[in-house]
Amino acid sequence: MASALATLKVEAILVSSPASIRYLTGYAGSNGLVLITATESHFFTDPRYATDARENIGGKVHIAKKPLIDEAAAVIKRKHLRKVWFEPSWMQVETFERFKKAVGDKCKLIPSAGFLEGLRAVKSPGEIELIRESVRVNSEAFEKVLRRVQPNVREIEVAAELDFQMRMLGAENTAFETIVASGARSALPHARPTEKQVEPGEFLLVDMGALRQGYCSDMTRMAFMGPVTKKARELYDAVLEAQLAAIDVVKAGTPVRKVDGAARDVLKKHGLEKAFVHSTGHGLGLEIHEMPRIAKKDKSKLQAGMMITIEPGAYIEGFGGVRIEDTVLVTETGCEILTPTSKELVELA
Ligand code: ZN
Ligand code: ZN
Repeated sequence: MASALATLKVEAILVSSPASIRYLTGYAGSNGLVLITATESHFFTDPRYATDARENIGGKVHIAKKPLIDEAAAVIKRKHLRKVWFEPSWMQVETFERFKKAVGDKCKLIPSAGFLEGLRAVKSPGEIELIRESVRVNSEAFEKVLRRVQPNVREIEVAAELDFQMRMLGAENTAFETIVASGARSALPHARPTEKQVEPGEFLLVDMGALRQGYCSDMTRMAFMGPVTKKARELYDAVLEAQLAAIDVVKAGTPVRKVDGAARDVLKKHGLEKAFVHSTGHGLGLEIHEMPRIAKKDKSKLQAGMMITIEPGAYIEGFGGVRIEDTVLVTETGCEILTPTSKELVELA
């Protein structure tokens, strides 16, 4: 961290995003702030977390009775820091104004634009294991529920059952609101489950993720109620081909836009380029959407240890949509698909 600060020529960074605070300190409470300098790490919280913080958090721990930002500013003043980065996406205007006033005009506050997010994109071996566990819980919950989906069950019931099973298997929460969409509603990429029943002759799209020990997983699978129709099969096979093509090019050093392009080219070949309305994937970890974005215009390259999703989709209004999504670990030689769930299009009775 200190060497990273040195290369960026800043003296300190004030970290206020809950995910980055957890990343740096392990703290998962609701009121924390971290100040990292070239030689020190300061953690600020309120008296509710005093015992936990003193026992579990390294560096200097400050238990503040006033707003944490005031305490952080006091340290900055005391250390005569002149250039401090902060996270603009994680600081309210009101807090920023207060902070600016408290540090005084000798200190320059610089918006950090994704510095910590960049560090977090490459996962440590410990993080990879935690994500592996999250993926496992997620897939097990899916297996338990999918087998029991009957015709005319409502989308919300399927979603509730999936959430329940994730919890029973050890997830502290879902990574995001579970998506269960059937029939024409599966063409809405971010459909919320409704009271609609899953009827024979319809697609069922399930996009779900577990949050386990702070780490997210993310998977989309498709099922079909009854025998699969020709049109549904064609759409499914095209998206599967696109997903496999994208996975095939994942490797450390590959530009992310090449991964996106691999999926896009296959869908284009099937006349579905306009039906693919989002990017091919995203990083994930402590948050469900992290760096990198696997998108057409992104200029970054994959690095070994990045954890990403590969999730092309094709959506046809009035008919339905297909998305297939795995959680994938980038390696030096290619990738490891963590998601163990089969990509067969499941026919439900
Ligand atoms: Zn997803
Ligand atoms: Zn996703």
